[in-house]
Amino acid sequence: MSAKVWLVGAGPGDPELLTLKAVRALHEADVVLIDDLVNPAVLEHCPGTRVITVGKRGGCRSTPQDFIHRLMLRYARQGKCVVRLKGGDPCIFGRGGEEATWLTDRGVSVELVNGITAGLAGATNCDIPLTLRGISRGVTLVTAHTQDDSSLNWRALAEGGTTLVIYMGVAKLSEIAQQLLEGGMASNMPVAMIENASMPQQRECRSSLACMQDDAKAFALKSPAILVIGAVAATAVEAALLASA
Ligand code: SAH
Repeated sequence: MSAKVWLVGAGPGDPELLTLKAVRALHEADVVLIDDLVNPAVLEHCPGTRVITVGKRGGCRSTPQDFIHRLMLRYARQGKCVVRLKGGDPCIFGRGGEEATWLTDRGVSVELVNGITAGLAGATNCDIPLTLRGISRGVTLVTAHTQDDSSLNWRALAEGGTTLVIYMGVAKLSEIAQQLLEGGMASNMPVAMIENASMPQQRECRSSLACMQDDAKAFALKSPAILVIGAVAATAVEAALLASA
């Protein structure tokens, strides 16, 4: 039997946002490796299947990436149907690309299955259209956190005019605000900070670029959260003010 691993997106949390293909992969799985950001409720599609949690949350006890790679390889070589289940989409800040390359380099075939990424779900659940005719002609997804501390071209992001969706930004709010302000973005640019998007405990905090750090503190914003920065994140009142400015 040829070795195969499914790299599957579990979506942002709401089990109803799982794709039919993800459900099929879970049905077929002999072993499922899940990240901490995956809502365990989705495991109802694979009752009785062996589930291994391989968490990687920042600051917490985490499973080394190399160990995860080897575990997937071992099960695949045993002829087991392996599902690697990741929060959101496997290839949006999810190491899906890295894991796929590592496995295919070792002769394992990989099938990637999309999931709804947190940025899309968070915006939609807060009634924010990420693109809007006449207001925003694009979306840029960025992570505020990098392993090598390399910095983003914030000026280009500030000047680009697209809606920004920022992942892993909770601990970096002051840097994000400062860099975008220095890059020329307006201080009253609307910001939505969305915690636990699509989950029953979802919370949203609306603010502006200049105030987002203070507002997030008062709100006690916690990870996982995404930030949506752009005119589309305006509340109806702000939108009217922006339009008349
Ligand atoms: N592959 C995932 C992203 C993993 S990176 C995806 O496509 O969604 C982890 C970051 O994603 C978190 O720090 C947070 O910024 C964001 N995130 C993941 N799930 C989230 C959720 N339910 N609500 C808000 N943000 C979330």
